[in-house]
Amino acid sequence: MTLFTPSPHSEFSFDSTEPLSRYLQAHPNAPVVATEQLDFHNPVAHFHNNVPNYAKYCRTLTTLQKRYGVRLYRGVEIGYTAAAEAKIIAYLDRHPFDLRLLAVHQNGQFDFTQRTVLQLPVAEVVREYLQLIIDALESPVPADVLAHFDYGLRQLTLTPAELDRYAGDRLDRMLALVCQRGLALELNTKSMYHYGNVALYDALITRYLAHGGHRFSIGSDAHQLSGYASQFAAARRLLLQHGVTTITRFTDHPETVSLVNGARTA
Ligand SMILES: [Zn+2]
Repeated sequence: MTLFTPSPHSEFSFDSTEPLSRYLQAHPNAPVVATEQLDFHNPVAHFHNNVPNYAKYCRTLTTLQKRYGVRLYRGVEIGYTAAAEAKIIAYLDRHPFDLRLLAVHQNGQFDFTQRTVLQLPVAEVVREYLQLIIDALESPVPADVLAHFDYGLRQLTLTPAELDRYAGDRLDRMLALVCQRGLALELNTKSMYHYGNVALYDALITRYLAHGGHRFSIGSDAHQLSGYASQFAAARRLLLQHGVTTITRFTDHPETVSLVNGARTA
């Protein structure tokens, strides 16, 4: 049963050295869609522009498709900043991708996984980070999935009630935009089970459903083979507990796939 496109990162991302071929070797029948990082002016890389080598990426996909006889798709994780918006749009215009994750990693000065975050008031970090996601969603940058809504909160310890108190209004705005744009909401299993934010996701699913949201995707945010599709069974169970029985898979077009039996339902 092939339910998911777990969107790992490979050698074509600045922060991974895992050869794309290794994911295929280990999962020869899975429709691996690697989502490579696109981050301009990246604080964790000395403010360099991290752009995938598109030509080489496409060549590698072609080679692997032939070798494994599976259809492979091109994926990207777009690290949004307002300052880089024009560059991002120009890049995506020239380099088409089948699956585009929209993400916020930084605010122009620091990446939210850097220690600086711990010196700032928690409420301030939360409100700033969610506002940056809103800015990304309000921008004309094209996307299919909102990735890890809690990336900026991974270093913090927050209960759902605290998150609601600090930035409930912004969560609602974020979810309204996800629905309006028809994006899928990603359950990021690294955030949920490695960084311990599963309770935040649990509450977010309830909130998203109340907004009328219905598109979900599950991503493991793996940077090496060992993390590929990690904890997907747990994320699937969580969705089923909420009465969600399908996820959205992005291949040639978005398709709805049953979480119960893997059948395409639309
Ligand atoms: Zn990311």
